[in-house]
Amino acid sequence: MKPDYLIVGSGLSALVFGALMAKAGKKVRIIEAHEFPGGFGHTFTMGKKYKFNAQLHYVWGCGEGQTVNRILSHLNLNKKVTFEQYDPNGYDHMKMPGYSLEITGDNQLLISRLSRLFPDSSDNIKRFIITVEKVSRAFDHLSSAGFNRNLFKLPQAAISVFKYRKNTIQEVFDLFCLPKEAQTLLALQWPDFLLPPNQLSFHAWVLLFTGYQKGAFFPTKHFEHVINSLVEVIESNNGSIVYNQEVMDFVIDNKTVSSVIAKDLMSGQDYEYPGKNIICNMDPKLAADMIGMEKLSHSIQKKLDYEYSASNFMAYCAVKDIDLEKYGFGKWNVFHSGSVDLNESFKTMYQEHDYSNPSFAICTPGFLTEDSSDRPPGEQIIEFLTVADYDYFKNLRESDKPAYRKKKKEILNAMIDVVEKNYIPDFRKHLVFKITGSPTTNKRFCWCPQGNSYGSILTPENMNIRRLNHKTSLNNLYFCNASSGFAGFAGTFWTGAKLYQTLSGDKIL
Ligand SMILES: Cc1cc2nc3c(=O)[nH]c(=O)nc-3n(C[C@H](O)[C@H](O)[C@H](O)COP(=O)(O)OP(=O)(O)OC[C@H]3O[C@@H](n4cnc5c(N)ncnc54)[C@H](O)[C@@H]3O)c2cc1C
Repeated sequence: MKPDYLIVGSGLSALVFGALMAKAGKKVRIIEAHEFPGGFGHTFTMGKKYKFNAQLHYVWGCGEGQTVNRILSHLNLNKKVTFEQYDPNGYDHMKMPGYSLEITGDNQLLISRLSRLFPDSSDNIKRFIITVEKVSRAFDHLSSAGFNRNLFKLPQAAISVFKYRKNTIQEVFDLFCLPKEAQTLLALQWPDFLLPPNQLSFHAWVLLFTGYQKGAFFPTKHFEHVINSLVEVIESNNGSIVYNQEVMDFVIDNKTVSSVIAKDLMSGQDYEYPGKNIICNMDPKLAADMIGMEKLSHSIQKKLDYEYSASNFMAYCAVKDIDLEKYGFGKWNVFHSGSVDLNESFKTMYQEHDYSNPSFAICTPGFLTEDSSDRPPGEQIIEFLTVADYDYFKNLRESDKPAYRKKKKEILNAMIDVVEKNYIPDFRKHLVFKITGSPTTNKRFCWCPQGNSYGSILTPENMNIRRLNHKTSLNNLYFCNASSGFAGFAGTFWTGAKLYQTLSGDKIL
């Protein structure tokens, strides 16, 4: 029997959409290229004793009544899938030479922390934080009112949002005359976007910054449990996921997609998978290229003309016989920059491939939950994340494998040097496991074009009204991924649920 929804890819938005549809009684089948579900959110095991989530670190929108919680409640998963909160007094610790700032959701406290560091700019800091709060509140109003249709019913909210729609966060920092060091401390979570302040959309920054201010979370039983629980809903409601199937083509007849053709990556054989409706969780632009761009309307072609977000470099490590708490780690992330100029720092790493003074994120998931099943007793997981250029790594890997490996080693060593100098003097002595992921690793295991991190790039141009959504101009094909909605854990939960709501009429958001 043809499934009601044939879904290409098992990323988070696909699993959320699939679970909601399966629970509503629809027949769902997912075709996934990888051997694991979850896309960027998949978990892999190394050395038989370590479990690492590929990309997810911390997430927002998971508190009582927030987006993720509402969707999980609808799936009866809210008691099974629970979350632990990061330290609300300082969930992100920003560190740079001579300065440090703990980011909190309490704006009065944040203003007073920043004002203590920059007393001469206290008024400007206050005006900036209040504006961010106002724009965030406006987004909340508009999204609960249903966005575009209700813009005119909420003129004040619309004006606040509209005013900065074309701005980067750098432009807004400058508008408020914030000192350079204050800008850097506020934008040091740049690895969450893989974009520097002079390119990052102010709107994207506000959504994430204030999203985490309302609560930064980590799943009590790790991200693997979240993914497995969504898969379980699909499978226990007569749905299925077929792994190791890479979709290579879409069969189209008179503006309707009848099936997809996938290569079984184990046997090399091709299979045809029919579906009444096709949901495209794989990258929309790549899917459109398979379909043939000319088969889509001009307006969709225009929306598909996006640039990809930058790729990244990840190091997954474990340390033994050391109490990281003594060195300033805890229920928070540490974001480090060796330079006060994040724009320059990003350019040096991304365009010049020079990591001698890196800026990067440090995550220690072991502090967030009692569940230590991701590592052997007495050990702690520690992960590092920064930006990296796909083309550079692809060329190195294809032309000179030893040089590719050497570059990966060099970046990890540069980050560890910073850690030893600034945080944990004997870090290398305690390091018992390390593995690194480059942009090409991203492409190989997450099937993301150019190893992109967040789908389409989060610049103002791409965040504004011309942005792609679920519509494709073909009768039964819908996009459902970070690039056609919002990136991130909460963003893709929202994207999957929004499409479910649109197609089923069942209001849950
Ligand atoms: C380095 C990094 C760190 C991040 N950190 C965080 C974080 O801390 N918090 C947060 O909220 N978000 C984070 N994110 C973002 C978040 O992980 C993603 O936005 C989200 O998981 C994307 O989900 P998606 O539904 O768009 O699908 P994807 O994860 O892109 O999944 C797409 C799926 O489609 C499959 N696929 C692709 N092509 C084919 C094909 N041809 N045939 C069959 N299957 C195919 C892929 O294998 C994959 O499973 C991070 C991302 C990166 C890269």
